[in-house]
Amino acid sequence: MRTGMKNPPIKLPSLPADQLGRMRTSLLEWYDRERRTMPWREHPSPYRTVVSEFMLQQTQVAAVIPYFEKFVRRFKDFRSLARAAESDVLAQWSGLGYYRRARLLKRTAETLVRDYQGNLPANAEALRQLPGFGEYTTAAVGSIARGLPLAAVDGNVRRVLARLFTVSSSGETGRIARWADALLDPARPGDWNQAMMELGATVCLPRNPRCLICPVQSGCRAFKLGRAEDFPKSRPSPSVVSVREVAVGVKKRDRLLLLLRGEDGPFAGMWELPRMDSRQVETETLTPKHVLFETARLRGGAFSLVGKSESTFTRHKIKTTLYQVERVADGAVRMQNHVAHRWVKVSEIGRLPISKAQRRLIELILAKCDSL
Ligand code: SF4
Repeated sequence: MRTGMKNPPIKLPSLPADQLGRMRTSLLEWYDRERRTMPWREHPSPYRTVVSEFMLQQTQVAAVIPYFEKFVRRFKDFRSLARAAESDVLAQWSGLGYYRRARLLKRTAETLVRDYQGNLPANAEALRQLPGFGEYTTAAVGSIARGLPLAAVDGNVRRVLARLFTVSSSGETGRIARWADALLDPARPGDWNQAMMELGATVCLPRNPRCLICPVQSGCRAFKLGRAEDFPKSRPSPSVVSVREVAVGVKKRDRLLLLLRGEDGPFAGMWELPRMDSRQVETETLTPKHVLFETARLRGGAFSLVGKSESTFTRHKIKTTLYQVERVADGAVRMQNHVAHRWVKVSEIGRLPISKAQRRLIELILAKCDSL
């Protein structure tokens, strides 16, 4: 139930009250029996629920599990997360991507310590005010950690609902949200939300849904029509943009030059090699010499190719060519688009917040260079 909105009474299409009751019972029994083991489910607490929900945004369960376990070992509760240095939090998040989530999670912990004695509030409006808490996260955290009757609708749930009620477009968010509210089991809202997500992730798959073992098959319109895969209509995926990037490894004795990104942008607070891409400069001028000068005001010579790497960020496919510079003219590093620089020892690299793509480039340099 979405707070702050006055919805008209909801009539579920083709779903009488007794069938609604059977559907709830059937789905929850299936969830109790079949649910996958996840560390945040096995030892639940409000803190673990919040961390897991932030990590699971745009990331698969299997990828999240090792990061989750490492993170909650290092930061045991909201208080220890609030006390930690942001660079330390980002370092623990390194490799998981979408680093803004880590910064928002830390700000949430700080808010909870400052305003709620380190506890998670138990009302939707207070949750909604926390940094990084949109409609979905408020509902997921509120229902799982605090038992609030809020329906959480992610991509998986949207697909299940679109099939149950034969909605052509998953973009019909208003209707889908109202049905999600009406279906929600008020006695077990957290389990209900997780059961719907689990059903979408493991049974009601985008392609080849496993209708024959589905616990809500008897109430599913799309199944009755024999057209499960027709709902919802798939939207054309956004076109991929190809980006060319040049990165440069600069050594000074046994240290490597890294630059720190500022407060804004997707990699805020992360360390990286000097780099630029074809969104910033014309491809003809995208040379290692130019990149080194434009990022750090260093004049270099004798660049050698170290290797190539590919990474994906949102809808961008980034092809990076990595060079190493042999000679750098004396002079201080002066950052242009970064806020700090450091000559970093190899042993320190693991402790710094560095993205997965950048870590891969650094590994290429280390593999090629004996003196680091
Ligand atoms: Fe999805 Fe098939 Fe179950 Fe309907 S019966 S909810 S289409 S898996």
